[in-house]
Amino acid sequence: MENEKRKLVLLVEDNPANMELAADLLEVAGYRVVRATTAKAALGLAAQGHFDLILMDISLPGMDGLEATRRLKQDPRTAGIPVVAVTASVMPIDRHKIANAGCAGFIAKPIDTRCFAQNVAEFIRKEGK
Ligand code: MN
Repeated sequence: MENEKRKLVLLVEDNPANMELAADLLEVAGYRVVRATTAKAALGLAAQGHFDLILMDISLPGMDGLEATRRLKQDPRTAGIPVVAVTASVMPIDRHKIANAGCAGFIAKPIDTRCFAQNVAEFIRKEGK
């Protein structure tokens, strides 16, 4: 991908091993990745950057990913950025909460390294501008 065409992803994840794995997979696939380890940091970065997608861990210290997503969707600067939940909690009740918070969908943890980058590409294609 040419540099200016490379999609920019905000990766929100508090677990260092999960962060490294996801970031590596995305970077190998040609994405530019900005990392945030808290919801608060993610909200600040999202308002400043031109992100094509936000990958949002749901279980975060302090503000969780659902509340962060609600706030992103309430802010006109960030409301248009698709947010995809990345979570081990994918029971129907969890899926309902994820959708209600404003997420475009979810990717289940542990992430499948064989198709993670492809899943991200599909969300960007479906939800992106
Ligand atoms: Mn977490």
